[in-house]
Amino acid sequence: MSKVPITVARGDGIGPEIMDATLHILKEAGARIEIEEIEIGEKVYLSGNTAGIAPESWESLRRTKVFLKAPITTPQGGGYKSLNVTVRKTLGLFANVRPCVSYYPFIKTKHPIMDVVIIRENEEDTYAGIEHRQTDMVEQCLKLITRPGCEKIIRYAFEYAVRNNRKRVTAFVKDNIMKQTDGLFHKVFDEIAKEYSSIQADHWIVDIGAAKLADTPENFDVVVMPNLYGDILSDVAAQIAGSVGLAGSANIGENIAMFEAIHGSAPRRAGQNVANPSGLFLAAVMMLVHINQPDVAELCHNAWLKTIEDGIHTYDIYTEGVSKQKVGTKEFAQAVVERLGQKPEVLKPAEYKSTEELGQIPQKPLYSAPEPQRKELVGVDVFVHWWNGKFYGAAEELGKKIEQLNGDGLKLQMITNRGTKVYPGGLPDTFCVDHWRCRFISSNEENPVVTHEQIINLLSRFQKAGFDFIKTENLYYFDGKPGFSLGQGQ
Ligand code: NAD
Repeated sequence: MSKVPITVARGDGIGPEIMDATLHILKEAGARIEIEEIEIGEKVYLSGNTAGIAPESWESLRRTKVFLKAPITTPQGGGYKSLNVTVRKTLGLFANVRPCVSYYPFIKTKHPIMDVVIIRENEEDTYAGIEHRQTDMVEQCLKLITRPGCEKIIRYAFEYAVRNNRKRVTAFVKDNIMKQTDGLFHKVFDEIAKEYSSIQADHWIVDIGAAKLADTPENFDVVVMPNLYGDILSDVAAQIAGSVGLAGSANIGENIAMFEAIHGSAPRRAGQNVANPSGLFLAAVMMLVHINQPDVAELCHNAWLKTIEDGIHTYDIYTEGVSKQKVGTKEFAQAVVERLGQKPEVLKPAEYKSTEELGQIPQKPLYSAPEPQRKELVGVDVFVHWWNGKFYGAAEELGKKIEQLNGDGLKLQMITNRGTKVYPGGLPDTFCVDHWRCRFISSNEENPVVTHEQIINLLSRFQKAGFDFIKTENLYYFDGKPGFSLGQGQ
């Protein structure tokens, strides 16, 4: 059978040791892979490349489409960009998949029955990195959630569940507060869930969901989340399973995928043959499934489970009375090699299916372009930088000034400060900063639709009155429904 080319980066710190250990096991298990090595990380950064990856390395990644990556060290200060974020976004790796499993009674954990897969959206949300300073007091980060982005990650989560014999997919969102952005994620989740009748689907508000996940992880199966919640909770889940040192993750794109441990380069442990290679190794097992070598993945994973069961542990998971032998990185890998062909007796053995057995995946395109809706402009939010020295009770003064700008078919509907309505009829107890949103709508009760020209004229009146308008957001109806939220207290 022909070998599958994969790109490998040995990384920094403990990276080269755990990569050697991982590749040793893969080779002995008969993985049909051909390795192309690239250099990433500290050396590349310090040679003056702020992205941490050389231009020619992209060619290897685009050719092999599979990347097994050891952790790297990001030098402190000096404007070095996160290599992970660069790789994920450049290659469109939209799904971060992180299985969090406990190995009780062989590895200490408060949660003996835990087998959760966190699927985190990887490209959107506040991680678009669109941030602005707008006033003396206020910084803004844009949270972008797109329909195709939600469709991709949610459909991927359901497909993952089907492929991996999982029973349930849960979504965590905060749509009681972020009705538009998290509301969209929730809506798309409900739509897609209907297409997968064999999989149970439910959702939790992220705060209580996170509390339940940390308290009773055995009640969760696959959990899908927008980027920020997923970033935080995938670490929580890995930690409570036993150790972050044990978890691997896959970053999946439409064409390219990257596999890595979730931990960093642990520089203080480097070069001592003590690091646990399990995180990277388990990521490599996910890679073997991805490149359709389920036989090798199963062989490797089961030998690893047996090694863990036999109490052969690296220092980070070694517990007196439970573990039998404390070993180094190389010895651990050798112990796994010696168990190739064996299966665990207590822990659940790993089982993987080939793409042929699973059939066409995904059944449907991951995402689609929505039908354009009838879009009507019905107003504008004009944000102004204004300060009269008062944190309390300033809104009346501003409101009276802004009302002077009414005219030409537009009228001030309300002013909010940090989202809370403060004019008209605000309370003097509301804390206000120098950042105000002035919402203008049509003054014609019969016809709510306004024009871009009316908005331009309004801005011109703001400018003539000496206001610093820092940004505007148009207000639209989509098929007659408002595409914007109300002010708190409106
Ligand atoms: P870290 O994950 O490297 O280390 C945290 C702790 O866990 C340390 O005590 C370390 O000794 C231990 N540890 C981690 N992996 C281990 C393993 N395989 N076996 C045994 N013990 C292990 O996190 P950190 O110290 O915050 O970061 C160190 C460097 O790693 C930084 O430069 C950071 O930027 C980088 N980092 C890289 C990645 C990546 O490449 N994906 C991810 C996180 C951090």
